[in-house]
Amino acid sequence: MPSFHQLELSTAMLSTLEQLGYQRPTPVQASAIPPILAGRDVIAMAKTGSGKTAAFGIGLLEHLNVRHFAVQGLVLCPTRELADQVAKALRELARSIANVKILTLCGGVAIGPQIGSLSHGAHLVVGTPGRVQDHLRKGTLVLDHLKTLVLDEADRMLDMGFRDAMDDIIGQLPGQRQTLLFSATWPESIRTLSEQYQRDPVDVRVADSEPAPDIDEQFYEIQPGQQADALAALLSLHRPGSCIAFCTTRQQCDELAEILNERGFNALALHGDLDQKDRDAVLVRFANQSVAVLLATDVAARGLDIKSLPLVVNVEPARDTEVHTHRVGRTGRAGEQGRAVTFCTPAQAHRVNRLEAARDGDLAWGDTGALLATPDRPVAPPMRTLCVAGGRKDKVRPGDLMGALTGEAGLPGDAVGKIDLFDFQCFVAIRSELAQKALKRLENGRIKGRRFRVRLV
Ligand code: AMP
Repeated sequence: MPSFHQLELSTAMLSTLEQLGYQRPTPVQASAIPPILAGRDVIAMAKTGSGKTAAFGIGLLEHLNVRHFAVQGLVLCPTRELADQVAKALRELARSIANVKILTLCGGVAIGPQIGSLSHGAHLVVGTPGRVQDHLRKGTLVLDHLKTLVLDEADRMLDMGFRDAMDDIIGQLPGQRQTLLFSATWPESIRTLSEQYQRDPVDVRVADSEPAPDIDEQFYEIQPGQQADALAALLSLHRPGSCIAFCTTRQQCDELAEILNERGFNALALHGDLDQKDRDAVLVRFANQSVAVLLATDVAARGLDIKSLPLVVNVEPARDTEVHTHRVGRTGRAGEQGRAVTFCTPAQAHRVNRLEAARDGDLAWGDTGALLATPDRPVAPPMRTLCVAGGRKDKVRPGDLMGALTGEAGLPGDAVGKIDLFDFQCFVAIRSELAQKALKRLENGRIKGRRFRVRLV
């Protein structure tokens, strides 16, 4: 690992880092700081704790011209908590540069004082997309001289439904700028975002953030008709917060979902026969972690943009090896431990044999008798979904919902999960134990000064 001295930082910055007790750059800093200082766009996979804030913070401050009184850097964050944290970190890093003004612009607090602060000028702005958009619209925030845009926790911003707001904001920035994108995960949607807004970005993925997938794969021989029992037993044994069970037909999806629900497991079916609205609702509820088990056909599962699942089950072995690999690849991503289980009846043995032939090692077979002896112990999903009968067409935005939920004496920001906005409704994931409280808040409170019908799905 290089030292900070090798990264060609200013003496002021080096002395600040020393005061802060940072001895060496973290892996993300070592890889991201040189291209950032060189003015390149960077896309970095980095989680909280990786030192990502200092990686872009050092870049923002080293590029800053304090004598030029204009907003030169903008950091967009998904939540107020993160924005406050980032602003605090930037202020610490800026301690040996005189007169740097760093402002936070987040929703949930009065806009007036922010307008006042903006009128005195600022060098760096850290904010949430909704409120930044408000200031741009009012003309109280001017970004004509922006040099660097940072999208922090970009995956979470997308999850929270900020895509429209981000598009709107970025559309108003100078085309000549540096764009730094930080994301803990790497779904398709992040790659699309990067392609749209970055120029020839340097890809920073540090080795330890993406180890080889670690998937524990097991096979069970079962008799025809035992699928539901075997699945219930498996869920009771491993109790995953979320799981996809792949089925061959839509009848199988529906039947298994019905049986599992009767037995207390929180299950939904996803297949090609659902109309668009039901399909959206199923996808939303599964992706936001308020459904424990999804019974899906291969084709229907294609639309799922989920990061990683603790458990994938093949209710029947896939007919071809490639499909099997694709299904199993939905678990054990991003360095998490994954588990894939395949049930196989004697008549389906040839499919599994083919799979075995395509691999080097033997397959691991579990003890079906022991599995089936597991009593039902359904696990509750971590989140619940609130459906609000207002959407884009009602000008409802994610920040308005966050504001209504987390405002004064409300819920903590981390109680709110994914926010999915549609034209006439939106879905908000809330940690299960706080779902009733959230429902009451929204029922009794107002969103954008209006009351909307709200229900727990
Ligand atoms: P972050 O991933 O940006 O949330 O940072 C995680 C924590 O690591 C923060 O408390 C930073 O102050 C700290 N930190 C960042 N860079 C370094 C470094 N090079 N050496 C020691 N601590 C650091």
